[in-house]
Amino acid sequence: MGNALAGKVCLVTGASRGIGANIARELAAQGVAVAVNYRNSVSEAQQLAAEINQIGKGLAIQGDVSSRQQVDAMYKQIESTLGPVNLLVNNAGVSLRGLFQDVTEEEWQQVIDTNLKGPFFCCQRAFPHMLRQGYGRIVNIASIWGIAGASCESVYAASKGGLIALTRSLAKELGPSGITVNAIAPGAIQTDMLNRELDADEVRALQDNIALGRLGRGQDITGVCSFLLSPQADYINGQVITVDGGWL
Ligand code: NAP
Repeated sequence: MGNALAGKVCLVTGASRGIGANIARELAAQGVAVAVNYRNSVSEAQQLAAEINQIGKGLAIQGDVSSRQQVDAMYKQIESTLGPVNLLVNNAGVSLRGLFQDVTEEEWQQVIDTNLKGPFFCCQRAFPHMLRQGYGRIVNIASIWGIAGASCESVYAASKGGLIALTRSLAKELGPSGITVNAIAPGAIQTDMLNRELDADEVRALQDNIALGRLGRGQDITGVCSFLLSPQADYINGQVITVDGGWL
């Protein structure tokens, strides 16, 4: 893909660990200045930003994506340090497993606020600059559960289904202004999120259902993400790309 993205500025939310950290590393390797957002994992984010600074420009930046005030403060800091954001990867997310009947209002709120309101705030804050430039690229990290639904993950699936609808809607609304909005729907990717939820037996059972016979890795998501941000994907808009090893 060359260095077509060199010099661009990307905010990757939830980049201290897992999928987001992999995406941040890959973009930095392509010459993108990367804002590594995190909520709590300060040392992981700082370490990744330091790693990025060896080869380019990185900035670890704390901010809860579910707070408009914190998102605004985060953008101001990115703008003054790296420049205005022209690439945005809405990756920060939380999961919730359990019977629908047991879900509390607070749990519902936390999942929806992080997974859906976060991208709302981050997109709204990015658009004025992107509109002025007539250029912007957004990738939302959804989930196959947002497409297929998931027993005992109904709230999480609802948040990701909402994110997919938001993706398709913004693609239509912002496309005429040169901004593309696409989503990736990962299957089971080996990260803290997955490890927290599944024991060894469940992982084995899961693998048996995945055509490629293995769980995904963070790196399995990075290629499609940087492709969707790149000029090679300039005519791709409003799409949801499933990356699940053939599971669904
Ligand atoms: P992870 O390892 O649990 O990492 C989650 C990241 O999100 C962390 O960097 C965390 O920051 C950050 N975060 C959480 N809440 C935040 C908030 N309110 N504000 C800012 N940052 C916040 O998760 P992952 O597996 O890499 O998942 C990344 C994305 O992929 C999520 O949207 C997830 O739903 C989606 N996904 C994952 C899988 C999978 O199998 N792993 C499958 C489908 C979709 P801290 O480190 O500071 O807590």
